[in-house]
Amino acid sequence: MSTLDAIEGKPRILTGDTPTGQLHLGHWVGSVKRRVSLQDSHDCYFIIANMHAYTTRLAKSDEIKRDSIAIVRDYLAMGIDPEKATIFLQSEIPAIAELTFLFAMLLPFNRVMRNPTLKTEIELKGLGETYSFGFPLYAVGQTADILAFRPVGVPVGEDQVPHLEMTREVARRFNQVFCAVDEHCEDEDHVRLGGVFPVPRAEIGEVGRLMGIDGVNKMSKSLNNAIFIADDPKEVEKKVKKIFTGRQSPTEPGDTNNVLFQYVRTFITDKARVAELEEKYAKGDNIGDGHVKLEVAAAVNELLAPMRERRAKYEGRDDLVLEILKAGCERANKVAEATLERVKHHANLVSWPRRLSYM
Ligand code: ATP
Ligand code: MG
Repeated sequence: MSTLDAIEGKPRILTGDTPTGQLHLGHWVGSVKRRVSLQDSHDCYFIIANMHAYTTRLAKSDEIKRDSIAIVRDYLAMGIDPEKATIFLQSEIPAIAELTFLFAMLLPFNRVMRNPTLKTEIELKGLGETYSFGFPLYAVGQTADILAFRPVGVPVGEDQVPHLEMTREVARRFNQVFCAVDEHCEDEDHVRLGGVFPVPRAEIGEVGRLMGIDGVNKMSKSLNNAIFIADDPKEVEKKVKKIFTGRQSPTEPGDTNNVLFQYVRTFITDKARVAELEEKYAKGDNIGDGHVKLEVAAAVNELLAPMRERRAKYEGRDDLVLEILKAGCERANKVAEATLERVKHHANLVSWPRRLSYM
């Protein structure tokens, strides 16, 4: 048992999503599937990072609100149990904003601007030179989203690794500057040696980067290349049919490293069938892309069927979803406030105990 387990009972994890759209298959294989499996063994916190959505959707705040609720509905559909896990809204956790300010002092400006995930986002989302000051600040804010909960692990997709690396740097630096943790201390030993923050690990899902149906970029809610968890069976079939491979005929030897075969390996659960498809496709043994796509669509629909059933309960019932969020915010604030109190103490900020609660 690690030191943290001993101090805090179940090890804690934190991860979440930005309401820039609805959740898609990339979220399932990259992160949510793992979250569902950790619900019993871990103390789980899932953040809806709604403030971060204002970086790119400022003029569409109504959509941010709508998608925040839709994502919680997606979580519930995918099997996250609000009795076991805490689902909450970033904007309702004041400690996160307060920590962001302090953590911004721990990170060199150029270090933030060099973050490769930010650079890629600026390019992919066409933000040019006009992005707000809040855009790079969101990367700093994400370190606070995570560390406010002092988790040991953060289940994320591959694209998030640079953000998590920054979070790990903030944790180390805070512990060194304010808690006298030695700069040569191993990451695992920070808490044992008096640091407030564990140095959290990135836990990459089964598929770190599911490609979009465009076959060019990773599947992304804002790139119009996603199969959504909420898509109906016909929509799924339609989208799978659009996957572009460039292959001309069923007898042309195919490349099993293409996007279609990433889907074959990810969603067809019968491994013998996967091997058979790979072999025939590679040889061009009379197997058309159209046929492979039908099998992929069927497999995806099989995965989504129980999710559709669970979703039905919450469809048109935003009241139920909001109740879950409110209870989650109350629980999350308890943890985040406790972290903030320790941070203030160590950073020599004069403060008095305070309590946050809803009417
Ligand atoms: P956006 O287009 O707004 O950036 P997104 O689809 O990339 O949206 P995020 O909210 O940025 O989704 O990411 C939420 C989580 O899902 C992160 O942990 C991210 O790594 C993971 N994730 C997102 N897309 C994929 C993907 N295609 N494959 C694997 N994991 C993914
Ligand atoms: Mg993203």
